[in-house]
Amino acid sequence: MAVLVTGGAGYIGSHMVWELLDNGEDVVVLDNLVTGFQWAVAEKAKLIVGNVGDQYLVESIIRDHKIDCIIHFAGSVVVPESLEDPIKYYDNNTANSLRLIAAAVNTGISKFIFSSTAAVYGAPENSGPIAEDAVLNPMSPYGSSKLMTEIMVRDAEKAHGLAYVMLRYFNVAGADYKGRTGQSTTGATHLIKIACEAALGKREYMNVFGTDYDTPDGSCVRDYIHVSDLVNAHYTALGFLRNGGRKFTANCGYAKGYSVLEVIEAVKRVSGTDFPVIFDERRAGDPPSLTANANRLMRRLNWQPKHNDLDRIVADALGWEAKIDGLKKSA
Ligand code: UDP
Repeated sequence: MAVLVTGGAGYIGSHMVWELLDNGEDVVVLDNLVTGFQWAVAEKAKLIVGNVGDQYLVESIIRDHKIDCIIHFAGSVVVPESLEDPIKYYDNNTANSLRLIAAAVNTGISKFIFSSTAAVYGAPENSGPIAEDAVLNPMSPYGSSKLMTEIMVRDAEKAHGLAYVMLRYFNVAGADYKGRTGQSTTGATHLIKIACEAALGKREYMNVFGTDYDTPDGSCVRDYIHVSDLVNAHYTALGFLRNGGRKFTANCGYAKGYSVLEVIEAVKRVSGTDFPVIFDERRAGDPPSLTANANRLMRRLNWQPKHNDLDRIVADALGWEAKIDGLKKSA
């Protein structure tokens, strides 16, 4: 038996592959390498280059490799881009997921773990941590494309017995705590990666998007979760499904928010550098504050974070950022 990881050459997926291998699992990766990197896939995993929307290909992978669970990461993840190019998001995230779910149902796969997002909540009215039963009201095509996939997965469970875990990520950051993989995407848009690039002199300055939000210091507040903790939550979810769990949806975060300005301070502190910061307009599609109520994941799956410290996240992100150029050149 093996686990199929879609998007396993990407940021979170490549960490998932290591988490599975560390736990003695056989792993097959399906990735189209549009944003992922072949060298990011651990050698012990089998990489198949192709699209998750290619139902025929997925069905043959499932049969050839005796897949017992699909962990689905492949997709597009940039909120501002989704506002400019919604069709890309409904194609890559919704339509491709539909074909993947169809392949799972046709081949009798009964375990599915889906990479969802806090963007399904939109901009919550209350600034406190959000629980899973909050109103789902995405503010971007990215959030909508993920919510539509959640709905399809839920319906497939009811009609076809596709047992699932859907994990709604808050802000994933950092790099493998053993330094084996990290966020390697070029043209990054995510805050911690951008700040690390600025700290290492890869960019001359960075912007703060919005300083007039109704938050303690006027910049947006997010709940940053270490990517190694996040993939461990997925491994815990796999255990839940293998033990007969049928359906579970949970937030992944630490229930602790940091503002954009606090994150930049942390990057300056941990790196021991200073870099120019430009205060800019709000970025479209950004809710002011998003923090997770993570009780459900901790109580029901007994998940315990091990790296829940902003400086730790930043240190691991910086370590990877310093290493990455050499890796890309030698690949
Ligand atoms: N942000 C920023 N400058 C940047 C990148 C991001 O001020 O160069 C802000 C962004 O507007 C948001 C927060 O940082 O308020 C987190 O953004 P990110 O893109 O990392 O994740 P998102 O919450 O959009 O998924």
